[in-house]
Formats: sequence, C-alpha cells, structure tokens
Amino acid sequence: MPNPVSDQQHHHFIDNLPVNASTGESIPVIDPSNGTIFASLARGSTADIEKAVIAARRASEGVWGRTTAAERGRILARWAALVADAVQELGSLESRDTGKPLRQGLADANALVRYFEYYGGAADKLHGQTIPYQNGYTVMTIREPHGVTGHIIPWNYPMQIFGRSVGAALAVGNACVVKPAEDACLSLLRVAQLGEQAGLPPGALNIVTGYGAEAGQALADHPGIDHISFTGSPETGKRVAQSAAAHHCPVTLELGGKSPQIIFDDADLDEALPVLVNAIIQNCGQTCSAGSRILVAAGIWDELLSRIIERFGSLQVGPAADDLDLGPLISEKQLRRVQGFLEDAQQHGLAPAAQGTVVAGAPQDGFYQAPVLLASVPSDNRMFQEEIFGPVLVATRFNDEAQALKLANDSPYGLVAGLWTRDGARQMRMARGIRTGQVFINNYGAGGGVELPFGGVKQSGYGREKGFEALYGFTTLKTIAMRHG
Ligand code: NAD
Repeated sequence: MPNPVSDQQHHHFIDNLPVNASTGESIPVIDPSNGTIFASLARGSTADIEKAVIAARRASEGVWGRTTAAERGRILARWAALVADAVQELGSLESRDTGKPLRQGLADANALVRYFEYYGGAADKLHGQTIPYQNGYTVMTIREPHGVTGHIIPWNYPMQIFGRSVGAALAVGNACVVKPAEDACLSLLRVAQLGEQAGLPPGALNIVTGYGAEAGQALADHPGIDHISFTGSPETGKRVAQSAAAHHCPVTLELGGKSPQIIFDDADLDEALPVLVNAIIQNCGQTCSAGSRILVAAGIWDELLSRIIERFGSLQVGPAADDLDLGPLISEKQLRRVQGFLEDAQQHGLAPAAQGTVVAGAPQDGFYQAPVLLASVPSDNRMFQEEIFGPVLVATRFNDEAQALKLANDSPYGLVAGLWTRDGARQMRMARGIRTGQVFINNYGAGGGVELPFGGVKQSGYGREKGFEALYGFTTLKTIAMRHG
C-alpha cells in the first residue's frame, strides 16, 4: 500500500509545522530489506533543537499549559482513534523503515493506540493528597508537569516507545521535544501530523530528526529541558545523564537487557516453547526485553533443547513485506555487530546448535541474519554476559534452584525475567530473589502490557515508564502548607 509520506524529503515537526534543517543538510533513509535509499530526513543541529525548545516552552507557558486535564485526555483519545484508523498505513511505513515483518509493524501501531487510550484515560486521574499536620494548617500535595520534556527514542520500537513516553508526558501537561533515532523516524513524523489533527496546539509536540551526536546531544545539553526520557544503549544513556546533570535535569533511563527465562523441570513445555522462541526472534532480537538467555533444568535439558533446535531449524528470514518469522536487522552496522559476536563465539568453541534460514531470493543488499541457538554457554562467556541485540539465543543448564537464581542474577543487566514452573512457593522465592524490574511467571512480556510499569535495575537503567507509574516520573510534586489558624 503506498505511503503518503514515505518517498519524499522529510522535515522536522516544530510548532505543528514542517521545518527545514537550519543547515539544509539531510540524512538518507535506507530500506533494511534491500539496502536502498527511499527517502531523506532533516539533519537536525543545535539550532533546530533551540527552535523546538522555544516552541515547547511557549506552549507550556501558553495554550497547552492552560489546557485542562480532561481536555488533554480528550485530545489523546481522539489521537488514539486517528492512529487506529491509520494502523495499516503506519504499520507498513514502520515495516519498510525498520525491516520488521509487517505484522510487527501493525502490532506496534496498535500498541500506540493503546498507549494513547490508556494515558488519555489517566490524564484527569492523577491527583495529590492532603496530609494531616499541626492544628491550624492544611497541607496538600499537587502533581505538576515538569514543563518541557525531552524524549530520545531508539530505532527498535519507535511507535511503542513514543507512545509510552510522549503519551504519558503530554497526558500530565508537559510540552515535548522528541529526537527519534536516525534509522527510524518516518512513523513518528506521521503520528505527529495526526496529533495536530487530534487537537494538540502548536508547540505541545515537536520532533527534531538527526544524528545522536548532533541533535541528540544538543537536546541532552539544552538548559531549557526540564526532564529527559532516554531509551537506548547503556553507553549513550550514561552520556545523556552526564550532560543532563550539568543543568540538574532529571533523567529516566531505559537501557538494554540480557533477560533470562528460567525453565524448571515441572514446567509446561508445550506452553513455554513458542513463548521462549518468540521472545528472541521478535523484531529479530532487537528488543531490550528480549529473552536472550534461557536457563534450563538439567532434567529437561535434552527434551527442551531438541524441541528448540527443531523450531529454530524451521525459522525463515526474509524481506519485511513477506512477513516471515524474522525480517532483516535494522542496518548494516547492526548486522556487523551481530556477526562480530557470532565470529567471537565460534573462536571460543561455541558453534551454533541450530539456526534458521535466510530465504532464497532475499535481496543481496538486505541486512539479513539467520537466528542462532548457542547451547551450553558458560556464564563467564561474553555471549552470556553481553547484550547482542540480534536473534541469538544462549542456553545454559542448571542443577537446582539456588544455581538457577545465581545464574539469573549473574548479569550486569536487570530488566526482565521469565519463570516457568508450576510450584507456587518456588515461583515466589525466585520472583523475589531475581534482580530485575519485571518478572513474568508462566508467560513472558504479558503481550506488551501497556498498563504494566517497566524499567530496570543495574545497567538496565532507572525510573519507570508504562502504566500509571509513569505519570509520577513525568510530574514533580509540590507541597503547599497553609497556616490558617
Ligand atoms: P543508542 O543509545 O545508540 O541510541 C538511542 C538514541 O540515542 C537514538 O535516538 C540516538 O540517536 C540517540 N543518541 C546517540 N548518541 C547520543 C548522544 N551523544 N546524545 C544524545 N542522544 C544520542 O542505542 P540504539 O543503537 O539506538 O538502540 C539499541 C540499544 O537501546 C540497545 O542496547 C537496547 O537494549 C536499548 N533499548 C532499550 C530499551 C528499553 O526500554 N530499555 C528499548 C529499546 C532499546
């Protein structure tokens, strides 16, 4: 289906208007399925970020700042309906831009609808408290927006991450400046147009496209930004937090993961198997919460591994539009990174125990990587410790619950964990012992869970997005103490 905004030169979106890059420079947009350039983006600079921050501040102190909570909710609800009407258009645009299979692009657009619905509904339900204090006083707390919030978004799930962070920030009255990843901007530029149609006044939402080291860094450095929500790699997150600290700007960091799924010998393997496989192949493994390590009880190791090997052998990789099990990786850079990990594994004696197939006829210049299973990976191996961000599943055996917990926590990351067991006491002991931001029992990811607070510990970051919890992060608490006698 043709996309009205895909085969063209794109601009920033500032004050509800298309705005050219101040430098006049652009960035090519590459189709990961065939390596061809099919559009261009404005290459944002410090001057463009400055324009966006000025627009957002004007909105925050003007019309948008005076918009009631109920009206903000209505705008988000209208936006949700407009996105719902455009799911096919947005899903196929995302699929072409990022290489994700079409059904995943559609799923992402539908998730965006849910975020806008959820935060639209929540907009007028966040309130403060009154606090009992000394006689003659009334004390209350009020939740206020930060003002102008910055949102730095990665390329793996642009619509979902925009929904959870910008949706929540707008619901509570912030004006937003968004810097999407240079590899994946098109869906968000279209979503912004729909936001204007839904009733967002000029300046409430601004998008500046560009490279991380230029537009992204300028956003993190800008003293006019009152809060930054960053999703991306731990290295960049650290740099953004350091830059923000220079102007005492609070930051939420959603970083990577090396999430374990732990399968005990009483698990229902029929239930677990498709979930275990999907958790690593979804989006070609380019998911921060990918279930990239499976820890398997010795008693079911042979059976489970043979079933996973069989499934991996049947997995097919091909162009996004063909909607196979996996599409290409996002970029040549990402392909080289994943290949580098696999070469390193091979040199350390870890040959693939199973792998999928890149279909014949997949364009030569696409960024294709077959999914790979690495079995019996020691916990001190790089493959066990580092985030690969590709379709590589690492399997390790354990003998008892204590060893399972030790292996699960033997990671610099702490984002998500999955437990597969029917023993209720063990479920809770493990869930309490694991150091991650989310634990799923006999499921994984709960289908995206817009309503479920999400975020990490350790190198996976800090702060929480998604769910009602996110609204606390996008507001600041004011205490008012009135002495009236
Ligand atoms: P990245 O850190 O390179 O880029 C993320 C964003 O930061 C992009 O918009 C990029 O342009 C921008 N950026 C880069 N350098 C910057 C700088 N100096 N200042 C400001 N912004 C800058 O990460 P990536 O390669 O886009 O994404 C992959 C990583 O992100 C993986 O590690 C993955 O696990 C993580 N991730 C985490 C989550 C989560 O919710 N926890 C979600 C998606 C991705």
